[in-house]
Amino acid sequence: MSQYDVAIIGAGAAGLSAALVLSRARRKVLVLDAGAPRNAAANHMHGYLSRDGLPPGELLAAGRKEVRHYGGEIVDSTVRGLAAGSTGFRVRLAEGQRVSARRLLVTTGLRDELPDIPGLRERWARDVLHCPYCHGHEVRDRRLGVLGGGPGAVRYAQIVREWTHDLVYFTPPGTLTAAERTQLTARAIGIVEGTVKHLVVDDDRLRGVQLGDGCVVPRDALFVPPRFVPNSRLLTGLGCDTDEHGWVTTDPTGRTSVPGVWAAGNVVDPRAQVITAAGAGSAAAIALNADLVDEDVRIAVDSYGRTS
Ligand SMILES: Cc1cc2nc3c(=O)[nH]c(=O)nc-3n(C[C@H](O)[C@H](O)[C@H](O)COP(=O)(O)OP(=O)(O)OC[C@H]3O[C@@H](n4cnc5c(N)ncnc54)[C@H](O)[C@@H]3O)c2cc1C
Repeated sequence: MSQYDVAIIGAGAAGLSAALVLSRARRKVLVLDAGAPRNAAANHMHGYLSRDGLPPGELLAAGRKEVRHYGGEIVDSTVRGLAAGSTGFRVRLAEGQRVSARRLLVTTGLRDELPDIPGLRERWARDVLHCPYCHGHEVRDRRLGVLGGGPGAVRYAQIVREWTHDLVYFTPPGTLTAAERTQLTARAIGIVEGTVKHLVVDDDRLRGVQLGDGCVVPRDALFVPPRFVPNSRLLTGLGCDTDEHGWVTTDPTGRTSVPGVWAAGNVVDPRAQVITAAGAGSAAAIALNADLVDEDVRIAVDSYGRTS
């Protein structure tokens, strides 16, 4: 069984950024990755200073090259299980191999659960969007919609409104409070109350939103707030504490409640963009290295005490 200082589960922005810092700190690092970064469906990544507009895969390919340049190992494999041992952790891969590591960093991201509306999933990351900061500029001044009804959806629509004067808020009947209705109307956001039946797509483009009564509201893009589900089973399996919503809790460096286990990026923070996930990975790596140094000092002092 190979022994590493740190095993990093997930090679998105958070995991690779941590691997770069740790391998430059001369730690023996293994990164394991299942190959499904969250933004893989998008053609371009925006808002990452100096890399705006880059295809997401190119950022990760460049990151992998940099990590390998400093001796970090990257293996394409899904991690099936993690277990704590007396001197560290055992990592079980899908293919059956096991490795051990003194510390773990879990950067497995989250999955976006979309409403079950015919045609919606097929248009995801094309003209069905969720993050106005990522793709709002590309559809600015177009005929936009927001699929409302859920918690926080009216506020989300008010944010999307910054990118266009032609915005329609779709919501099931009876879901708006009087105050929300006033807020939407005051900012000239159209309100359509009805059941969204499916998306109308023609010539590989979103044309509109069809309602239960057959009416089609023409739209060029639809913003949809997904339900964020953290890929945190590996962490909860180790016993990491979670908050009241089921998200694993960490300190500002990414340290979880289980000694030796860190987490960073979307797996613990649904708001993390690519640049903030990378930053969180870097911060976790620095804290992890300091924790390893503390352990190295303890081991050295023990050994020194025995020999002097
Ligand atoms: C459609 C879309 C477009 C987006 N566009 C932008 C944008 O333009 N700009 C921006 O800043 N943000 C954008 N985002 C958000 C962006 O995707 C996230 O901020 C970013 O991916 C978070 O990085 P991460 O490293 O935390 O997770 P991810 O990038 O999701 O990486 C997690 C990695 O862990 C791996 N993994 C999961 N489980 C296991 C396991 N058991 N074993 C091994 N590996 C595992 C996954 O396969 C994946 O490779 C977009 C999101 C979506 C959905």
